[in-house]
Amino acid sequence: MLDRSNELTAWDRDHFFHPSTHMGQHARGEMPNRIICDGEGVYITDTTGRKTLDAFAGLYCVNVGYGRQQIAEAIAEQAKNLAYYHAYVGHGTEANITLSKMIIDRAPEGMSRVYYGMSGSDANETNIKLIWYYNNVLGRPEKKKIISRMRGYHGSGVMTGSLTGLHAFHQAFDLPRAPILHTEAPYYFRREDRSMTEEQFSTHCAEKLEEMILAEGPETVAAFIGEPALGTGGIVPPPATYWEKIQAVLDKYDILLVADEVVTGFGRLGTMFGSDHYGMKPDLITIAKGLTSAYAPLSGSVVSEKMWDVLVQGSDAMGPIGHGWTYSAHPICAAAGVANLKLIDEMGLVENAGTVGAYFRGKLTEALADHANVGEVRGDGMMAAVEFVKDKDDRVFFDASEKVGPQVAAALASRNVLGRAMPQGDILGFAPPLCLTKEEADHVVAMTVESVADVLR
Ligand code: PLP
Repeated sequence: MLDRSNELTAWDRDHFFHPSTHMGQHARGEMPNRIICDGEGVYITDTTGRKTLDAFAGLYCVNVGYGRQQIAEAIAEQAKNLAYYHAYVGHGTEANITLSKMIIDRAPEGMSRVYYGMSGSDANETNIKLIWYYNNVLGRPEKKKIISRMRGYHGSGVMTGSLTGLHAFHQAFDLPRAPILHTEAPYYFRREDRSMTEEQFSTHCAEKLEEMILAEGPETVAAFIGEPALGTGGIVPPPATYWEKIQAVLDKYDILLVADEVVTGFGRLGTMFGSDHYGMKPDLITIAKGLTSAYAPLSGSVVSEKMWDVLVQGSDAMGPIGHGWTYSAHPICAAAGVANLKLIDEMGLVENAGTVGAYFRGKLTEALADHANVGEVRGDGMMAAVEFVKDKDDRVFFDASEKVGPQVAAALASRNVLGRAMPQGDILGFAPPLCLTKEEADHVVAMTVESVADVLR
């Protein structure tokens, strides 16, 4: 292959505005820029020929792994036959109708319809609008507030960036906006009162939520949104009994539950959906990433029968719903989704995420849990995290300026393995493709141990 890296590097620095990137450092050439050109299984290759094991599956999205020809062929076939037709006013294609049926067949009980978007962010924007519409149809226009959690991640739009509970996504953007509120993160390791058991901490989180609802007035609170397991906020599975206690509070005040399954949907936790894994009873489910394994941009708001019936009453009273995207249910993306969901079944990836994920976390724990600067090794399914602390006994965290998490991630990348330095805290995250093998998991663990030793002698 012709090495055009130098030319591309110059164009990249001069013309490409990258998301979530230090703009000045990139433009000035003060940070490495990798140009990725190939992928196969769990590996990506850059234009210098360097091959790296991607133990974060891109942005925890390439769930089936890279280079799957079945999906590429389904996309090509769809593009050749019919690249586009819109889905407004009842129009459909074989691909998007088939995909809808496949999603509902796999979804938790009580789900009815799928509204499609292109990203997790726009699906959550849709969810907010559907929640407001729903309460307007029910004649309770004051019931509009949405409670999210500190450290939740729900997107980067104006409203979804507001739902997100991470400082970096609010700073200098005048977010969060009303009517979004944030309650306690279900982060047992960082609990204030260290004497609490997991169950006690879950009770505390549910009590904090109830206090907020009562302070705001239950008649003003419409919905609660949460990832089954926190992702970008630190890869944190919920403490024992958390969801059942939260669910009880929501039911008591007639508050809808949105399960944001953008990361956990389609197998990442070793079950098809995280809602089933943790016994959540959502009214809306957000899906994206794993729906197409990122072979094409596609997201969805999965709507429950309970909400659907009310939305239909809205249309009967007011006419067609005034919410649409040009690319909603795009046939090429839907074809990718159909091929991807078939491949997940054929390769047994949901089961593999459970078994190899448990193996991977077990090995990480064995290798690192006793390290003086490792506060916790945690995870669930094919998601894992190692959290670093300055003092283990007193649980003293490093100052963010020391950049311990990013340094370990960089040391790992220098060994051709990618984890992700999570944005808030010194947390090295892993969310490999669901096809990871035990041998590949062993390699990730071995390289992580060496990288930790490099940074934290
Ligand atoms: N929700 C969750 C749980 C996510 O992790 C993400 C992205 O990482 C989003 C929503 C936003 O998705 P997107 O980046 O496709 O807009």
